[in-house]
Amino acid sequence: MLIDSHAHLNFEAYKDDLSEVIGRCLQEKMKVINVGAAYDTSLKAVNLALAEPSFHSSIGLHPIHVYDEEFIVENFQDLIKSSKGRVVAMGETGFDYFHLWQALEKHDKSVEEVKAKQAKVFKAHIKLAKENNLALIVHGRNGKEDKTAYQDIYKLLKDEGASRGVIHCYGGNLEEAKKFVELGFYLGFTGIVTFDKTGVLEEIIKWIPEDKMLIETDAPYLTPVPYRGKRNEPSYVKHVAEKIAEIKNKSVEEIIEITGNNAIKLFGLK
Ligand SMILES: [Zn+2]
Repeated sequence: MLIDSHAHLNFEAYKDDLSEVIGRCLQEKMKVINVGAAYDTSLKAVNLALAEPSFHSSIGLHPIHVYDEEFIVENFQDLIKSSKGRVVAMGETGFDYFHLWQALEKHDKSVEEVKAKQAKVFKAHIKLAKENNLALIVHGRNGKEDKTAYQDIYKLLKDEGASRGVIHCYGGNLEEAKKFVELGFYLGFTGIVTFDKTGVLEEIIKWIPEDKMLIETDAPYLTPVPYRGKRNEPSYVKHVAEKIAEIKNKSVEEIIEITGNNAIKLFGLK
């Protein structure tokens, strides 16, 4: 089954034509996990899942937003409770060292302070995921010079005893990929695989065990070839599957089947 394991139809980008975009998802007979990045977009993701049976939701506070609002545990706990089982994961959460400067400039914080704040919020997500038997959707992004985001994510997940989740839009190296998979994590691949020229993702996809890979759009961002430059949407995730099929020397149907089963298993989708 075609499953987009990470999309943001809950974002402003779809405010004018959401029903058309949803219509194209239904046409594909696919499932979609809409992911929150703050409390309001988490609430929207839950409401989408309550309205549309083939949608599920993940709720959380993105590491780039940890100074825009407080992560209030009770509010997220209440959201899980009221969601009738339509919340399947906590996140996206993790470390983002690419946008550190925003927090530094806007909120007058030091690098250490921002990292510590992201770690604190990340840990709170892990705790909620464990208490509610949910998966984790982890976001990582290295800085232009600071390439330690994935190492720090690994260390924190390991220290907190987390083993169920996905490192979405994976952007670390092969060595780090091996450690995440060893820990029990899945890796999510986006449209970047269709235009990445570095060869790193291809190397990782060649290596990754089939039962540990997921496909995703991260829509509205990261639009795959042949739609580069346009707004992304879940139905385009099949282009990610096509590229992975080519790299792994399998048919697209097989990759759709494998990644669909992986998502169903990880998130306990019904
Ligand atoms: Zn995302």
